Amino acid sequence: MTVTPDRPTPTAAADSTTPTTPTVIDRFVASNREYAVTFRDGGMDARPVQKIAVVACMDARLDLFAALGLELGDAHVIRNAGGVVTDDTIRSLTISQRALGTRSVALIHHTGCGLLGLTEDFRRELELEVGQRPQWAVEAFVDLDGDVRQSMQRVRTSPFLPHTDDVRGFVFDVHTGLLREID
Ligand SMILES: [Zn+2]
Repeated sequence: MTVTPDRPTPTAAADSTTPTTPTVIDRFVASNREYAVTFRDGGMDARPVQKIAVVACMDARLDLFAALGLELGDAHVIRNAGGVVTDDTIRSLTISQRALGTRSVALIHHTGCGLLGLTEDFRRELELEVGQRPQWAVEAFVDLDGDVRQSMQRVRTSPFLPHTDDVRGFVFDVHTGLLREID
């Protein structure tokens, strides 16, 4: 009996001349090549120039650098769903302050946040669907101002953070672009 060695079977998909629609990440890669053409290394080190960490929602409408007048190298920006202060946010803030010299913390929530419509039922539904309860809390809220206050409180009372004198919280209005400070 003769054994024929395995050979790859030619397929249409293997034809590299077949045009494919670029994905959004393909466009990132192309944009980055253009970016790098004019990019100049500012010679900064890892410590933020303005000695501030900003904790904000991941919302796509929030352009923090433009909205806060920040330049490259100025600030640490820590973003998550809701801009909430979780254990992992405290982890980043602790490193920001103790290893990288920041002194101030600004917290930014915003109007129309996706978390406003959610409840902790989200977790229970997730558990029913996948058979496992997530370790994390959804951190959903109904009271925007109250949640900013709670976030400020979590930062101010963290035993890991040496600098809690300058902690301020805001709500960004996605329609006007204005920040409203929460006392
Ligand atoms: Zn949000």
